[in-house]
Amino acid sequence: MCAVYRGPVCKLCRREGEKLFLKGKRCATAKCALEKREYPPGQHGSSGRYRKSGYGLQLREKQKVKRAAQMTEKHIRKFFVISEKQPGPTGANLLILLETRLDNVLRLMGFSLSIKESRQIINHGHVHVNSKTCNISSYVVRTGDVISIKAKSSDMESVKDAIEESEKMPQPEWFKVDTAARSGEILRIPTREEITLCGGDISENLIVELYSK
Ligand code: SF4
Repeated sequence: MCAVYRGPVCKLCRREGEKLFLKGKRCATAKCALEKREYPPGQHGSSGRYRKSGYGLQLREKQKVKRAAQMTEKHIRKFFVISEKQPGPTGANLLILLETRLDNVLRLMGFSLSIKESRQIINHGHVHVNSKTCNISSYVVRTGDVISIKAKSSDMESVKDAIEESEKMPQPEWFKVDTAARSGEILRIPTREEITLCGGDISENLIVELYSK
C-alpha cells in the first residue's frame, strides 16, 4: 500500500495513541482531537487498545513514524536501505534522515506549520537550497546548506503565520534561522537525542527488526 494517506489526519494520531503533530497550530490547543478522545477511532475504539505481540509492536512503531513523517511505505523503505549503508546504528540513522528531510526542516525552522504545508510551499517552487530552487520535499539537508524562502514569496500569509507560531517554541540547535531574511543555515546534522518526530519517543529498534525480516 504505497499511496499517501489523504483522509482525516487526526485519526492517525488517535490510532497511534499519541500526537503526531500533523495539523499545525491546532495540535497545541485544546481542539486537538487527541485531547478530546484519547482512544482509537472506529466502532470499538473506546473499548480499549489491543495487547500487541512482537510483530504487532514492530508494525505499530513503523506506522507511527511513517505517519508522523507523512511518507509512503515505498519511501520509508528507501530511506531504510540508505540508513543501513551508513556508519552507525541503522535505527538512529533512519530517524536522522527523516528529521533532515527538507519538508521537516522547513517546519522546524518555522517557515511552515506542518510537513503537509511544507510540501505545498516546496512543490510550488517557493524554496531555495543554496540559492537554487529545490522542489524535492525528500531532499536531505547537509551541513552548510542554506534553506530560504524566495524573496518574492517571503510575504506569503502561511509563512508569516508559521513564523509567528514558531517564535513561541524552542528551536533545535543544529541550525540557525534568520526569520527576517526567511532563511536558515544547517550548522550540523542532529543527533538521535535531538529527533523531534513523535517527540523523539520512538523505539527505532522495532522498526529495524521489522524491516530486517
Ligand atoms: Fe489532530 Fe494535531 Fe491533535 Fe494529531 S496532534 S490529533 S493532527 S490536532
